[in-house]
Amino acid sequence: MEKGRKGGDYRETAEQLNAAAAMTVRGVVEALMEKLDKEESRCMIHLGQGDPSAFPCFRTTPVAEDAMVDALRSAKFNCYSSSVGILPARRAIAEYLSSDLPEELSPDDVYVTVGCTQAIEIIISVIAARPGANILLPKPGYPMYEARSAFSKLEVRHFDLLPEKGWEVDLDAVEALADENTVAMVIVSPGNPCGNVFTHQHLNKVAETARKLGIFVIADEVYDHLVFGNKPFVPMAKFGSIVPVITMGSISKRWIVPGWRIGWMVTSDPNGILKNSGIVDSIKSYINISSDVATFTQGAIPQILEKTNEDFFSNIINTLKRTAEICYSKIKEIPCMDCPQKPEGSMSAMVKLNLSLLQDISDDMDFCLKLAEEESVIVLPGFAVGLKNWLRITFAVEPASLGEGLNRIIDFCKRHAKQQ
Ligand SMILES: *Cc1c(COP(=O)(O)O)cnc(C)c1O
Repeated sequence: MEKGRKGGDYRETAEQLNAAAAMTVRGVVEALMEKLDKEESRCMIHLGQGDPSAFPCFRTTPVAEDAMVDALRSAKFNCYSSSVGILPARRAIAEYLSSDLPEELSPDDVYVTVGCTQAIEIIISVIAARPGANILLPKPGYPMYEARSAFSKLEVRHFDLLPEKGWEVDLDAVEALADENTVAMVIVSPGNPCGNVFTHQHLNKVAETARKLGIFVIADEVYDHLVFGNKPFVPMAKFGSIVPVITMGSISKRWIVPGWRIGWMVTSDPNGILKNSGIVDSIKSYINISSDVATFTQGAIPQILEKTNEDFFSNIINTLKRTAEICYSKIKEIPCMDCPQKPEGSMSAMVKLNLSLLQDISDDMDFCLKLAEEESVIVLPGFAVGLKNWLRITFAVEPASLGEGLNRIIDFCKRHAKQQ
């Protein structure tokens, strides 16, 4: 690029934006994929990203497929959408979420979004628009929040999730981090990356802490109802009368259709705090200038949410329960790995690496690069989700491939073990 042209030199900014994008799961996985041995005759096994849609045992329900076809063929949804989303879709989402809540949500509380990802984009952009604002994020967490914040130049402060307490929020840290410029805290339950599920009691404490600090809670519930341990799924919005809650979700995970890009953002704010603070107006303004979910996919939402039968959900849960079991028990066999908490929800688990038992592996990224190269197995290095020298293993994989992938990891660890 020509030098001296002030408006033209974008290189420093490009570097910053590049660094933000490289932080996402997608960014790290792409780097690992480059390491795959193209000559290798064995096929690649992907335990790095939660998209099981390609496996027959995770195929979505025909109810959802029919809903999409019917909506398209009806010719009722060829029009532009309204910016908040079409009313039948918002009404169906309000009803779907209300069934777990003490109070009915109104369609006016609902915004239809391009997956949960756009909900993250909207809320981070809105918070970042206030000069000096900061947000509290969990560590480990879902790196899209950090990447989006970096893009919007929003200050991020991290609180720990505590492995010895089943990955509960370190609420003392939350109190210590917050100041008068803190706007909100994010929680993810069922949890990505830890596979944990917050109890009613813990969420109650989260709500009380947030109220004390005068902040609101962003509840990422993209894995809603995907639980298979002893703890039921409890939505954060149950505590909306204690503290305002913005719930974000989608059909990507529960219906295994991440490519359909249907999600939502919902305010639970019976005391009108978000409304009075101007946050609601800011959200409306932002979505007015961003793109909408394709109208016909919105047209399919009522049928998808209302007609899907329990058998489909319980099949998916049983498969995940089984694969979580396979994952946990195989990891237990590996001396250099420790999974402090058996996954009880979502699609992934966090595993701690004991590098002192390995030779010629310098850190988590080195482990993942060599694993990709030698075994054609992809797992996510922990640094990408905020915990260096850990791994995130996605178990939402067809059981035979998962077993094979984990066996290759066992071989890899044996081969690289330090000689006693
Ligand atoms: C997958 C995921 C998302 C993104 O969901 P989409 O609906 O696919 O956009 C958001 N948050 C978490 C924690 C996720 O795991």
